[in-house]
Amino acid sequence: MPAPGDNVLTNTQAAVHEALHRLGYEETIYDLLSEPVRVLTVRIPVKMDDGHTEVFTGYRAQHNDAVGPTKGGIRFHPNVSLDEVKALSIWMSLKCGIFDLPYGGAKGGIICDPRSMSMGEQERLARGYVRAVSQIVGPAKDIPAPDVYTNPQIMAWMYDEYSHIREYDSPGFITGKPLVLGGSEGRNQATALGVCIAMREAATRLGKDVKDLTVIVQGFGNVGSNVALILQQWGVKVTGISDANGGLFDENGLNIQELIDQKDSFGMVTTAYQNVIPNEEFLKLPCDVLIPAALENQIHGDNAADIQASIVVEAANGPTTPAADTILSERGVLVVPDVLANAGGVTVSYFEWVQNNQGFYWTEDEVNHRLEQMMVKSVHNILQTSDRYEVTPRLAAYMVGIRPFAEAMRWRGWV
Ligand code: GLU
Repeated sequence: MPAPGDNVLTNTQAAVHEALHRLGYEETIYDLLSEPVRVLTVRIPVKMDDGHTEVFTGYRAQHNDAVGPTKGGIRFHPNVSLDEVKALSIWMSLKCGIFDLPYGGAKGGIICDPRSMSMGEQERLARGYVRAVSQIVGPAKDIPAPDVYTNPQIMAWMYDEYSHIREYDSPGFITGKPLVLGGSEGRNQATALGVCIAMREAATRLGKDVKDLTVIVQGFGNVGSNVALILQQWGVKVTGISDANGGLFDENGLNIQELIDQKDSFGMVTTAYQNVIPNEEFLKLPCDVLIPAALENQIHGDNAADIQASIVVEAANGPTTPAADTILSERGVLVVPDVLANAGGVTVSYFEWVQNNQGFYWTEDEVNHRLEQMMVKSVHNILQTSDRYEVTPRLAAYMVGIRPFAEAMRWRGWV
């Protein structure tokens, strides 16, 4: 299990501190970048289907707006906490910094369990959240997007609510929208495609062809299921997948399309199967590449030594604790960090926002081609930085990702 010290916020702050220190920046810069510049906590009353009113707590954290407006998803999950939302906002800044996007990071979250809510309840919650945070968000202020358990339908309700409040149509307020409402081609699969490209480039640097590798994917939500599907389309053998209930494994490769056809919108698929592998055992199965695509702190001090993969590609945000990171790096496992591997999502969100602002839309090929170019460049940039400074790819990613914020704050005269 993750150790009591595995607080995602304090761990992230320590890594940001280390990165700024290596780059030679002064303490004031760390002071500003260790916490979001703005955090809003809101209470949202929602009329439930049975007539009673339930009050939900939500957050929006804006990490840093020195580079441009802030950007990041909104998570619906029972375990959402202020510390988690803050850490996730810092990670969003790092992703934007690594990919040269003209944004700072932000994140939102609502403590709720959408799996036990009707569509109507989810809609009222989504609209209530937008009303509650409307003062601090907007196309040139802070642009939300999907995250865990939120999807294009929820983005559509939020976009509609925001446009009503402002009294003009505002597609650039939020990304991850349905295509017909100004969403971008390729956005739905973008995080997954980026993860697959990152894996391919990392494998190439180790002199390996992806087609010779076996892969297991933890998590079967939008990201995990699409990663598994794209890899299979590339001819890679996906031998394991899992959801919150457990895992399925077949050394000859699973039929991913068939599993996707069976899953529900919360990524559950294994419930229909016998002999499901418990999640703790699943991560230790034999494979060349492990792709955690679920939640935080899945690879920790107690299981890192048993991971058999030689490459870990972090599709989830924060799946590896610092203790596990040390163990994996001592064992020579190449970890492609989350802020690099899963930034295809925010990159195509940026493309969506650009298209909304221009009112001119790109083809799926154009989107995927631009994403591919940016992913390849960023992966090699981080791995080269890691070699040059003799640091882990994670620390290299933090160094590359945090630098634009330090520089922008200096130019603006904040420090
Ligand atoms: N929620 C995604 C992430 O964690 C996407 C954010 C966005 O598209 O703005 O990167």
